Amino acid sequence: MTSNYNKFTFLEYKNILTHIKSIYNFKLVSDKLSKIDKKICVLRHDVDMSPENALEMAKIEKILGIKSSYYALFSSRFYNLLDIPVLDIFREIIALGHEVGLHFDAKVSQNSLDKDSVFTSLKQQINMLSDLLSIEIKSFTIHDPDIKGKIKFDDEQMFKVKNGSSQSFLKKFKYFSDSNGKWGNNNLSVALKTIKYENIYLLTHPVWWSNTKKSPREKINDCIKGRVFNALKMYDKDLEENKRPNIAW
Ligand SMILES: [Zn+2]
Repeated sequence: MTSNYNKFTFLEYKNILTHIKSIYNFKLVSDKLSKIDKKICVLRHDVDMSPENALEMAKIEKILGIKSSYYALFSSRFYNLLDIPVLDIFREIIALGHEVGLHFDAKVSQNSLDKDSVFTSLKQQINMLSDLLSIEIKSFTIHDPDIKGKIKFDDEQMFKVKNGSSQSFLKKFKYFSDSNGKWGNNNLSVALKTIKYENIYLLTHPVWWSNTKKSPREKINDCIKGRVFNALKMYDKDLEENKRPNIAW
């Protein structure tokens, strides 16, 4: 029961990527694929909860000479994208040579069931992320599959930005995802050893990966505790820098 969950360590991640690299050529979500491209692996990270873990993965990929695509979320319950240390993490991911794009949550728009409202929100968030990170946003992904069912995000390009979640793009690949801290029906490690796929698309959520073996709930707990710790550390630092008393009893 736990075997599909407990291998989500950074060491395992490094091993998986090393194996993939021996077979496939890594491409960014925003890269244009031509007919002559063969044995492609698109590596995508939806950063729903843990920018810190995303940075760990970005560093592992850098060591292995791999570039991938990371997606930042404005409405995460687990981090604030406008928090300067969080922005610095995404800036560092860019400096490591990776792509950063928008992980779009349609529910934050004025009317999440109205197409115009949702698309306006998408454009606004793309522009805002672009300004914050001083980069061109070349791709985005969709956060909430339910919304995707109500409002179609099928176009592979929207506002000249690549839609990394569009079905027309995804259908070019065998798709693997670590959703909920486990491989779905397609266990990547097992599948890669037994079947030779033409092209693969690997979606990770960095919160599920850690230094040691832990349950998904423990990883969520670690993520929350990390945010609390950092907020308190910043509070102490601000008081110290402004020479104000830090009252505690
Ligand atoms: Zn998401």
